Amino acid sequence: MSNKIFVSQPSLPKLNDYNFYLKEIWKSKILTHNGPFVRKLEEKLINHLSVRHLVAVNSGTSAIQAAIRALDLNGEIITTPFTWIATIDSILWERCKPVFVDVDKNTFNIDVSKIEKKITKNTQAILGVHTFSNPCDVLQIQQIARRNKLKVIYDAAHSMFVRYKGKSILEYGDISAVSFHATKIFNTFEGGACITNSSKLAKTLQKIRFFGYDDAKKIQTLGINLKMTEAHAAMGIANLKNAKKNFELRKSHHQLYMKLLSNNQNINFQMINEKSYNYSYMPIIIINKNNVNKLIKKLNKYNIFPRRYFYPSLNKIKIIKDKKNFPISEYLSDRILCLPMYSELKRKDIQKISEIVNENI
Ligand SMILES: *Cc1c(COP(=O)(O)O)cnc(C)c1O
Repeated sequence: MSNKIFVSQPSLPKLNDYNFYLKEIWKSKILTHNGPFVRKLEEKLINHLSVRHLVAVNSGTSAIQAAIRALDLNGEIITTPFTWIATIDSILWERCKPVFVDVDKNTFNIDVSKIEKKITKNTQAILGVHTFSNPCDVLQIQQIARRNKLKVIYDAAHSMFVRYKGKSILEYGDISAVSFHATKIFNTFEGGACITNSSKLAKTLQKIRFFGYDDAKKIQTLGINLKMTEAHAAMGIANLKNAKKNFELRKSHHQLYMKLLSNNQNINFQMINEKSYNYSYMPIIIINKNNVNKLIKKLNKYNIFPRRYFYPSLNKIKIIKDKKNFPISEYLSDRILCLPMYSELKRKDIQKISEIVNENI
């Protein structure tokens, strides 16, 4: 057994719970192809989240790609450089062009006041990222999109279970893409889903994930293989049972971190609305950027491994042509550190981590 503390640790169901489903799979011999567990997981998630349509796929990245395909985009997509590389990979892989808008220093999300300046005749969509589950200014984005006839996709990879203004955050925009990757608050080993209010888009997404076939087994459109397997869906069904408990645990971890760190004048925090956040990450902004690596080294000595999410700012990477300056994204990237955050993290570990942070920053 190692006692290393990583930035995250997957939430796992009881092995017996998972085995129960595996035995069912061995009996039915249905391994994939939108089988009974995938359908059951979709139904459970639709009820749990109170959303209209949810199409499960094999990763969060696939979900963003499927969204871009379903909306038939092939031009410029406005997004931010302060995100995980998968957002940008999906746009480029679908042969679209990412056009960056800087983020807001407090929310870490796209700065809506800067969007309209970047709209050209080739702009087709806005792809907002709900950073660390903090909702984008979805109402402003909706208005900008309506005024300029643009589609809206959300990279909601972090945003499971988040509600905003009386409904799931996943119901905003034309399509939201969530991730069920091992490191996210809810996991199916790997996996993801598209959420939409449009039954037409849901049908298109279902065809895209399965080689373009419709229910009547006719090929209706260009599709590819983005299917979730039965073993992955079973993991989701088993994990969903602990969703509420995991959320509550993380929330109390977050409160403890804040209690121990918020008096430190050399650190800033993401501005959040407590009601619309799922506490899957514990980002801190170290005002003196020279101290970031110093702190990482110090924590590593104690077998604690935080991560620099998101670093570097994506306008700085080789595959990106948009090399302009994005001062806020670069400011945050150069200073951000995500401290360990997962359901089974111990309170004494949070105390230890906070102590090391306060002693060194
Ligand atoms: C995890 C993540 C993704 C990709 O999800 P996968 O399920 O790993 O493909 C996309 N965007 C963001 C912001 C993420 O954190």
